[in-house]
Amino acid sequence: ADELNMIQGALELRSKTVEDVMTPIHDCFMVSSDAILDFSTMSEIMETGYTRIPVYEQEKSNIVDILYVKDLAFVDPDDCVPLKTITKFYSHPLHFVFYDTRLDTMLEEFKQGKSHLAIVQKVNSEGEGDPFYEVLGLITLEDVIEEIIKSE
Ligand code: ATP
Ligand code: ATP
Repeated sequence: ADELNMIQGALELRSKTVEDVMTPIHDCFMVSSDAILDFSTMSEIMETGYTRIPVYEQEKSNIVDILYVKDLAFVDPDDCVPLKTITKFYSHPLHFVFYDTRLDTMLEEFKQGKSHLAIVQKVNSEGEGDPFYEVLGLITLEDVIEEIIKSE
């Protein structure tokens, strides 16, 4: 029955991690912090259908902001406003989470309110240089709920 599946799914939150259900970085739609909000950029953002768009600087592993599509409501594409003007104005908090966070913990964090999207990262200490934060993807509340509902 559906109820049993959902209970099963809820129990599995304890054995799964953020990495298991996140959207990997190469599938994430992001915009560059240098972007100009002209007609073409605004159309591209709108057409993705996503509500929240990570903003990166130089490279996609360096996420510095988050743009909500609703922030664009009063932006006129003819004005060619720099994206930075908008992100500075709204300045939404960014949330980071480690890739090995359990899904039950993640759900609790999402329930605390604030944002329903978190950037997934790990500390990369492979290689010669200093350890650095590596962004692996993003996770939203929807990804956790999906895990509860779809469980077989
Ligand atoms: P909402 O449903 O709150 O309007 P949304 O449709 O933009 O938001 P979610 O419903 O939270 O996004 O998530 C749906 C799926 O899309 C999830 O798998 C999530 O990881 C993914 N997702 C969300 N934002 C992005 C993005 N900017 N790029 C790629 N995938 C995303
Ligand atoms: P440092 O203090 O050594 O200059 P930093 O300021 O870049 O490093 P931290 O102070 O260790 O980073 O961490 C601040 C917050 O920013 C943490 O939540 C961390 O997860 C996040 N963070 C730091 N660098 C990145 C990055 N490149 N991508 C994503 N998140 C990052």
